[in-house]
Amino acid sequence: MRIGQGYDVHRLAEGRELWLGGIKIEHSKGLDGHSDADVAIHALCDALLGALALGDIGKHFPDTDERFKGIDSKKLLAATIGLITDKGYHVVNADLTIMAQKPKLAPHIDDMRQTLATIMNVDSDAVSVKATTTERLGFEGREEGISALAIVLVDNRH
Ligand code: MG
Repeated sequence: MRIGQGYDVHRLAEGRELWLGGIKIEHSKGLDGHSDADVAIHALCDALLGALALGDIGKHFPDTDERFKGIDSKKLLAATIGLITDKGYHVVNADLTIMAQKPKLAPHIDDMRQTLATIMNVDSDAVSVKATTTERLGFEGREEGISALAIVLVDNRH
């Protein structure tokens, strides 16, 4: 068994769609980035890559590559799972925390869990997604950006 952690931040901007945990969420702003800027999936990808010391998301999917411009981050997660699978590992469980002052994420948590679980080939009870505000403190609290943390456990025993 191996464990990995990931962390990511994206800036909130006008005129962008908000994608979090593979789900599109209605909001007045969205996360800015080269891809769809799904900060939760990016943290999860980094945790998966970290578990097997395979580098980070920027190494595998560089933001200088036009192929990844505007890409649905679910495709990056699927590709990351491919790398894990190639090494003979599968996901045991994942635990994510999303730090956002707004919007309210509670209504979307189960959708995110199911979406991420399907891509990672696990049951949704192996995927935890939690959301918290930062009590209006820091960049998340000022609604300048959203951050996410992820921890995963992978195993190569079948
Ligand atoms: Mg990112």
